[in-house]
Amino acid sequence: QAKAAGRNSYRFFTAEMQERYSRMLALENGLREAVARDQLSLVYQPQYSLAEQRLIGFEALLRWQHPELGPVSPAEFIPIAEQSGVIVPLGEWVLARALEQQAEWHRQGLPPVPVGVNVSAVQFRHPGWCERLADLLGKAGMAAGGLELELTESVIMDNPQQAIAVMDSLVRLGVRLALDDFGTGYSSLSYLKRFRLSRLKIDQSFVRDLLRDEEDRTIVRTIISLARNLGLDTVAEGVETREQLELLQRLGCDQAQGYYLGRPLPAEQATALLRQAG
Ligand code: C2E
Ligand code: MG
Ligand code: MG
Ligand code: MG
Repeated sequence: QAKAAGRNSYRFFTAEMQERYSRMLALENGLREAVARDQLSLVYQPQYSLAEQRLIGFEALLRWQHPELGPVSPAEFIPIAEQSGVIVPLGEWVLARALEQQAEWHRQGLPPVPVGVNVSAVQFRHPGWCERLADLLGKAGMAAGGLELELTESVIMDNPQQAIAVMDSLVRLGVRLALDDFGTGYSSLSYLKRFRLSRLKIDQSFVRDLLRDEEDRTIVRTIISLARNLGLDTVAEGVETREQLELLQRLGCDQAQGYYLGRPLPAEQATALLRQAG
């Protein structure tokens, strides 16, 4: 009996492993063609200032519509893209697309709006990346200051010296830098001062239970005061309720994004929002 169960669970385990593995292979292969086959798009999540409740920018988020598997979450395919190296052309596509969208808004006479783009560690360390970015900025003809690159703590803390050099070149190009998911990794506070950041993004895991969890409240308060001392703006991520928003405002958080304020929107809807705001 026990033996049979053991065998069964073993078989079940390998079947599940097998399935996961073939899905991963399918995604890895699919990703190589996703760009050429027009399966990728960007959605834009609005960000608001808490003082004036004004639209102050968007975060660009990648979406992939797989022909057989349907929509695949970036949380699933970005790590695969990183392992296989596809993240480099993929990341370039994201940057080019985001800059193109800004140029399109400009052509339509809309006010300039900053767009945040997520940058993976592999992309960040890829040699020649800054030069490619400079090319893309030149081609789009948009002011570099309208582009914000979102880096995570692990991207930077892996090799802080090298990261600081890359960040310096990026800042020289004129782009702005934000630290994404702040508080989930570990950043040495002494380094934080030397990173050329404009904003700290407070991770949504601290926002989720903000009203109930005293510890999360303390963490958020600490991040906000740290940011203030370093001259950085704070953006809270994952704001889903009015209560969270009001509490963040009372805690002195500068900006926020989240489902309560607005879902990530396809380009046309983001354009409509921009037109309405401007
Ligand atoms: P992230 O950069 O921290 O992005 C925030 C994630 O939270 C997004 O998930 C967004 O849709 C989601 N979100 C926004 N508001 C709320 C809310 O109120 N509640 C909850 N529960 N979630 C909210 P998404 O789009 O699935 O992206 C997941 C992660 O994938 C991103 O986390 C980022 O790390 C990565 N990613 C997305 N697009 C790109 C990209 O173009 N390049 C790279 N390298 N990574 C990307
Ligand atoms: Mg982000
Ligand atoms: Mg984040
Ligand atoms: Mg994240």
